[in-house]
Amino acid sequence: MQRVKDKKADQVTVRRLNMSAILKLLRERGTLARADLAKELGMTRNTASNIVTELLQAGVVIETEYRRQGAGRPGLLLELAPTGGFAIGAEIDISRIIVTIVDFKGKMLWEESTQTNPAQPQGEIIAMAEQLVQGALDWGAGESLKPLGIGVGLAGLVDAEAGNLTYAPTLNWKNVPLKSMWEEKFGLTVYLDNEANTAALGYYAYADLFSARNLAYLSIGVGMAAGLILEGHIFRGSGGFAGQAGHMKIRPDGEPCSCGDHGCWVTEVGFPALARKTGQPEIALEDAARLLRNNDETLWAVIDEMAEMLGLGIVNLVNLFNLDRIILGGALRPILPFMIEKVRATVDQRALRQPRRNVKIKVSGRDDDSVFGAAYLVLETIMNDPVPLVRSQR
Ligand SMILES: [Zn+2]
Repeated sequence: MQRVKDKKADQVTVRRLNMSAILKLLRERGTLARADLAKELGMTRNTASNIVTELLQAGVVIETEYRRQGAGRPGLLLELAPTGGFAIGAEIDISRIIVTIVDFKGKMLWEESTQTNPAQPQGEIIAMAEQLVQGALDWGAGESLKPLGIGVGLAGLVDAEAGNLTYAPTLNWKNVPLKSMWEEKFGLTVYLDNEANTAALGYYAYADLFSARNLAYLSIGVGMAAGLILEGHIFRGSGGFAGQAGHMKIRPDGEPCSCGDHGCWVTEVGFPALARKTGQPEIALEDAARLLRNNDETLWAVIDEMAEMLGLGIVNLVNLFNLDRIILGGALRPILPFMIEKVRATVDQRALRQPRRNVKIKVSGRDDDSVFGAAYLVLETIMNDPVPLVRSQR
């Protein structure tokens, strides 16, 4: 009896893995013929075909005709169905809330944001975020699309498994159980994560189209965190708190840090460093960018120094993880392009040759990687285990 039961359990697992592999391959390739799908995944045509039929019935995959040149009969190509449902992404930042809708193919359909002030009470900021999420749900309902879940990116220490914002230093929030609060309010599954993790996922999925499997996304602002994608998966560490790159020690005798220690990386490259080194605590990044374009020598000296320290920390990441991509983003983005050359030069000079061979270091071209990745948390979970969705849509 036991053997029969095990065999059944194995079949269920294999079916789930096959279904997940098919959806992920379609996500990466866009369109594929059934025969190519089976061949690439090493499945029999029959196995692939059975699963594809289920996915078509559930409305998460569609089949479209295309005419091959010179061939009489049209071929059929499979692709993810944009109407398979939509994911909501939300990001609660130090001074802004942004909410987006992404369809099942990963295309952004809707986005709205609002400015906030970190001095506002927590309840007020959360209520503003809830209003935007409700707006997204109403929009989706108007388009007759099915909501699949809500992903949230937060600046701070997030216990992703428990769905709890443990500590957000910039907002000074502690222990906010946003997952349970919003699941009760909206009746959808809610996923929380650190905003650097969601930014890494957003970049990986949207800008990089799943091509670089080892990627670090450095979100640099008042604080600094790294979202790490290793071997194609977000790396969260044993308690979910990995990626606190800003508190890597870079100077034994360095400046005091908000974490209570001193000499942390963020004190040399984040907004606090810019404010301290320029002697202008309120410096606006747009103004700084303008001064740099006008070759302001004093500011260029500060930026070069920050870029070198940024490069040094990146050297450590490159040596440790042998990454394909390092993406620089976050609130400091307006001035990051002025640092990139010096950062690259530092890495070229100081990282070991072999681990740095494939690495590309770039400034992100968008300021909504994080909210896009928050929505992608929902899609990623479904891609990993599509069986419940397929069952519910049948
Ligand atoms: Zn620190």
